Amino acid sequence: MMYFELKAILSFSGDLREGKETLQQNIEDANKDLLKRGVPKNVSGGALIEDYTIEGSDLCIKITSDRYVRAHDALIRLKKSLSEAMGRKHRVGVRDIKIIDYMIRFEIDRPPVEKLKLPFVDELELDGKTCIISVKNLTQDQLANNYVDRIIQRIKEKIDAQYYEGKEELWELIWESGDKKPVWTRDPTEEMEKRGWIKQGPTKGKWFYRPQAAKILRCMEEIAVKEVLEPLGFQEVIESTMVPFDVWQETGHMEGVPNEVYYICEPKSRDPEEWEEFVDLVNISKEVPVDKLKELVTAPRAGICYAQCPLMYWSLRNTTIADDSLPVLLYERTVPSARYESGGRHGIERVDEFHRIEPIYIGTKEQLLTLKEDLIERYTHVFQNILDLEWRMAKVAPFYMQQSGHGDEDGEEDLGTIDFEAYMPYRGDRNDSKWLEFQNLSIFKKYTKAFNIKAQSKDLYSGCSGIGLERWSAAFLAQKGLDPNNWPSKFNKICGNLPKGLNLL
Ligand code: ATP
Ligand code: ZN
Ligand code: MG
Repeated sequence: MMYFELKAILSFSGDLREGKETLQQNIEDANKDLLKRGVPKNVSGGALIEDYTIEGSDLCIKITSDRYVRAHDALIRLKKSLSEAMGRKHRVGVRDIKIIDYMIRFEIDRPPVEKLKLPFVDELELDGKTCIISVKNLTQDQLANNYVDRIIQRIKEKIDAQYYEGKEELWELIWESGDKKPVWTRDPTEEMEKRGWIKQGPTKGKWFYRPQAAKILRCMEEIAVKEVLEPLGFQEVIESTMVPFDVWQETGHMEGVPNEVYYICEPKSRDPEEWEEFVDLVNISKEVPVDKLKELVTAPRAGICYAQCPLMYWSLRNTTIADDSLPVLLYERTVPSARYESGGRHGIERVDEFHRIEPIYIGTKEQLLTLKEDLIERYTHVFQNILDLEWRMAKVAPFYMQQSGHGDEDGEEDLGTIDFEAYMPYRGDRNDSKWLEFQNLSIFKKYTKAFNIKAQSKDLYSGCSGIGLERWSAAFLAQKGLDPNNWPSKFNKICGNLPKGLNLL
């Protein structure tokens, strides 16, 4: 059961005294017909203008309704019809609509665990499973643009989210390599820093990789490309570092991870004159006048790449892929990913800027399930035969994905995400310590849908796999140490000798 009660003022362009009768007539007619349109037969319902008063050029109105013709839709219908009638006969039209109060009552499945807060919602009251909200200050455009439905939907989602809070992620072991004896138990980041292979900074969560470390990351990249991606037929693409918000709105990142994004501003103008004072200030004060800078740049409308897949999907937006191009197999390795990890930062394995190769794949479900097996086989070859890691695979899903009614992947057991995890000896015992997720592999349906990517006749799925070069390196070095003499010979054969680096005094 839903109930809507709306109080609004329709402001006309002129005094209403003269047109009073036309108004009355119109409102009576609306109550009989206009505000009942769309109500299914055999059901009594729709919207009703319960009450109205005229004050100068203002019409103050109260509309109640059920879910068939929601009060705000009724208001918009009424505005049109009144504007027409009053315009024709009395040359006045509706100039402005002001919502004074909008009370909505609806049922929820379960009560919130904690108090709920929501933009546009002034008050939220609960009576068992009945939720009563008061919505204020919505404009006419916002009403016409489904804000009310989304507010109600959002309340339900937020209540659900409160129940998921703190619930365990699904984690199901698929495969494990078994124990392997690590050559040491030190933290490779600390040791590399001591040896001068890496240097912290220049800002939080970033590293400067000196020749030895750069070489290791590059070897990992080469292994991934040569041993996994090329043999499976993946083709390389190069994308932009900057991702506009509309792309992230489609992928869900704008709601999912806005607190981890690095945002980008643009200069408002390139004209040196506009920047003259700023440059003078830098010159004289020997500081960067940040407040002045704020005036010279735009608000962000894009961010630095968070993962490479969104732009790859975007590049195929609104296209139809020929059957002979399926499955689409692409990978990107030029753009680093930036994430504000804050307190979670550690070593080279959890950083604010990292280097990944991201393969994406688009195809029929059968094609992608086969590809998944092939990818797992190639990855297993790398982690077993070349890197000789102690690692495991697990099927993972956040709690809300395990519940029915969430995501497209429901009931499609073979879709979802696999995490690849490595034992990190420096963190302690293999059974008690947290293993490092060094890559993952997913198959979903949502991105082909979001970007309207179609095939000639088939239903398309998509997926991606994040190959984190810092994470591959961290896992390898944590188990194998920094001495190439202890590294697997297959790895050394691909990698060659480490560069000498620099002798800094
Ligand atoms: P985590 O749970 O560790 O934060 P995530 O779920 O955020 O990982 P994804 O978005 O799935 O990670 O990214 C896929 C891959 O990207 C990871 O498997 C890892 O290799 C790499 N990665 C993600 N975040 C970082 C980071 N902060 N530093 C280094 N590599 C990262
Ligand atoms: Zn991805
Ligand atoms: Mg993360």
